Amino acid sequence: MALWFDPSEMLIGGTWVRAAETLTLENPSDGSHLADIARGQSREIDAAVAAAHQALAGDWGRMPAVERGRILARMGRLVLERVEDLAALEALDVGKPLRQARADAVALARYLEFYGGAADKVHGETIPYLDGYTVYTLRQPHGVTGHIVPWNYPMQIIGRSVGAALAMGNACVLKPAEEACLTALAFARIACDAGLPDGALNVVPGLGGEAGAALTAHPGIHHISFTGSIATGVLVQRAAAANVVPVTLELGGKSPQLVFDDADLDAALPFLVNAGIQNAGQTCSAASRILVQRGVHDEVVARMADRYRQLRVGPALDDLEVGPLISARQKDIVEGFLAQADGLTVAAQGKVTGTGGHYVAPTLLTGATPDHPLAQQEIFGPVQVVIPFDTEAEAVAIANGTDYGLVAGVWTRDGARQMRLARDLRAGQVFVNNYGAGGGVELPFGGIGKSGHGREKGFEALYGFSQLKTVAALHG
Ligand code: NAD
Repeated sequence: MALWFDPSEMLIGGTWVRAAETLTLENPSDGSHLADIARGQSREIDAAVAAAHQALAGDWGRMPAVERGRILARMGRLVLERVEDLAALEALDVGKPLRQARADAVALARYLEFYGGAADKVHGETIPYLDGYTVYTLRQPHGVTGHIVPWNYPMQIIGRSVGAALAMGNACVLKPAEEACLTALAFARIACDAGLPDGALNVVPGLGGEAGAALTAHPGIHHISFTGSIATGVLVQRAAAANVVPVTLELGGKSPQLVFDDADLDAALPFLVNAGIQNAGQTCSAASRILVQRGVHDEVVARMADRYRQLRVGPALDDLEVGPLISARQKDIVEGFLAQADGLTVAAQGKVTGTGGHYVAPTLLTGATPDHPLAQQEIFGPVQVVIPFDTEAEAVAIANGTDYGLVAGVWTRDGARQMRLARDLRAGQVFVNNYGAGGGVELPFGGIGKSGHGREKGFEALYGFSQLKTVAALHG
């Protein structure tokens, strides 16, 4: 596919800068060379942070919220005009089936619409205080925000973090993942076309240990939004602590869907499987554990297995149900987990039709005890484990029995049980008789425990990307 931009350039202070060194992007569907991208280093991060400070001191810092909102809305419209181009880029770069990449591009537009509309609707309060005082609060941007994004959902994660940060008037430095960064660069082109002032958004691709580490340790950064693995999240939080900078961490998950005997199985089935295999399971909120009450266990397994046997795995542009994993490394990790599946039964697998890429057959495993490593650790591949339970209390204990707490789904017709579980499940989002709510840009999202802290998406993100100032005026 011919690119409409030079992928080896970085956006710094409104100028497209050619990198001294490049990194190779691979097409995960066939292992071929996709593009050469910039290998940003600390020098480019320094320049990007300086450009962001300049933007805050200039037009961007003084721009009324309504104008910021209009620019974001324009970016959203341009994204919608280019949905097919963006979807094709994301499909090639990440390996996700075209229709999933298209949904991500539409979600990016939706984030920009949402945060464009919200930019002038976040306000402070007046506070009754002592006689002779007027007290009010101001919501102000942090200043320069750093955004470190993984490879699995670049467009969605950029939309939710950069979109919200810009809406609040921050100036952003974005470090996309070295495995997939083409849509981050396309997004930056769109921001320029939409009239975003120079330096309000800077994009520096590069390696995590180089550009990423330089960004998180930079004394000129005022807030960091990180999405990625726990190990890197710990490094990022440590680096931020040295500068006493707030951090939002969106880490992984081992999210369960709980299916009770009284569930509407016809409604549940598509959600049970899709939430495990979407983006080849490389989804932080993947429902990788399916907890099923004993009375419907065998039926659920049989019906999920039927669906698994129909899954085809192939190149992203073939637009099958499942694409390749992002890299040979990720494939090794997933196969390593499958090699530890002792004691589990392979109920069914999908069929790999692609060749040359990083393909793994989707695998449904049964017979897992809650403490089995495959029922505890994030696999980040198309693998789901089914765990039986007898009582509601047992289901809650199993669901809450990992280090993670990102998302949970509950399938039951019992309204009181729905409310109890919504209260008791340890997760940042609980879905009742659905799962994922179609991505819902309006819905605050984030983790508990090792899934991270802080919330993105919805209005909550706008509070996260701003700080509250209290003004107390004594006037008599
Ligand atoms: P990763 O942590 O290796 O990389 C994520 C990003 O961090 C990349 O841009 C990378 O370059 C950068 N990075 C790496 N080392 C760094 C360092 N020392 N300092 C600063 N930045 C550094 O994660 P990954 O393998 O790319 O992504 C997979 C993980 O991300 C999974 O665990 C998954 O659950 C998690 N994830 C979470 C969410 C969420 O919203 N909760 C979303 C997507 C992915």
